[in-house]
Amino acid sequence: MNTTGKVIRCRAATHWKPGAPLAIEEIEVAPPKAKEVRIKIVATGLCGTEMKMLANPNSHNNYPIILGHEGAGIVESVGEGVSTVKTGDKVITLFLSLFLPQCGECASCLNPGGNFCVQFKQSKTGLMSDGTSRFTCKGKPVYHFGNTSTFSEYTVIKISVTKIDAVAPLEKVCLISCGFSTGYGAAITTAKVTPGSSCAVFGLGGVGLSVIMGCKAAGAARIIGVDVNKDKFEKAKEVGATECINPQDFEKPIQEVLFDMTGAGVEFCFEAIGNPATVAGKAERTSLNWFLITWQRSL
Ligand code: NAD
Ligand code: ZN
Repeated sequence: MNTTGKVIRCRAATHWKPGAPLAIEEIEVAPPKAKEVRIKIVATGLCGTEMKMLANPNSHNNYPIILGHEGAGIVESVGEGVSTVKTGDKVITLFLSLFLPQCGECASCLNPGGNFCVQFKQSKTGLMSDGTSRFTCKGKPVYHFGNTSTFSEYTVIKISVTKIDAVAPLEKVCLISCGFSTGYGAAITTAKVTPGSSCAVFGLGGVGLSVIMGCKAAGAARIIGVDVNKDKFEKAKEVGATECINPQDFEKPIQEVLFDMTGAGVEFCFEAIGNPATVAGKAERTSLNWFLITWQRSL
């Protein structure tokens, strides 16, 4: 059935109020307007950022809202003026643009070093550029989140999608939307990990594992994973950690443990827990280069 130009009814995990669990609701998704894309979401990750938002009742003000930002799916229809993707294309949402839509036309988008679109600017309102929402539920407008709202079977986003290979497994590549790019990019692009170096990675969730993959690809000789949950160690070693430690197994502060293990501290150190205290504490002694890659998002 051709749904182009029609309202689509589908299900979405809707967040009604602070502290409430997500509720699976039937919603209406309006067609995309100019420079917007409507996507059938096939797979979405659950990022640590959303876990924190659900746990923190003060994380945002717009309710009801549809969260979710690590998405992959198929373009259902496009609005006027969209030429970079078409119906049927497989896409991931906001590849590396991290909540920054790209019009692809302004001076910033055309500059290979720029990523802050001047045409769309970053919207913190949870609404589309025309100040309205494309979602409704039980007669009420529902806010968008991060220009993605991937916890819905269909979503509308400002043109901030990347076309991917038609054979790409969507349930895997959805992680490129956020966790993988954040971690891998921190090691390769931001820290520029060097061959033969030693690295420590705090937090072995989606971001930390991606940091490890980046460190490994860069040729690091030692990659020490640090997590309070031992169940994370097996996967971390599978993707490249040379050893893993649990701070709770030691009397000494973890930075001293790392110092003893390496004789001089690690050359590159990554915080992928999302806990500013990990960085603010005595962590300086741990490393020669300390890269804070994750901040609590203020959305
Ligand atoms: P996650 O929940 O999957 O992983 C966090 C890991 O940290 C878990 O394995 C947990 O056991 C571990 N941990 C918790 N407390 C610890 C402690 N005291 N010492 C050692 N380990 C500890 O989360 P994720 O999806 O990997 O995201 C990690 C952080 O990165 C979150 O804060 C998230 O908000 C943030 N994030 C930022 C960006 C970005 O800035 N671009 C992108 C994605 C995620
Ligand atoms: Zn994320």
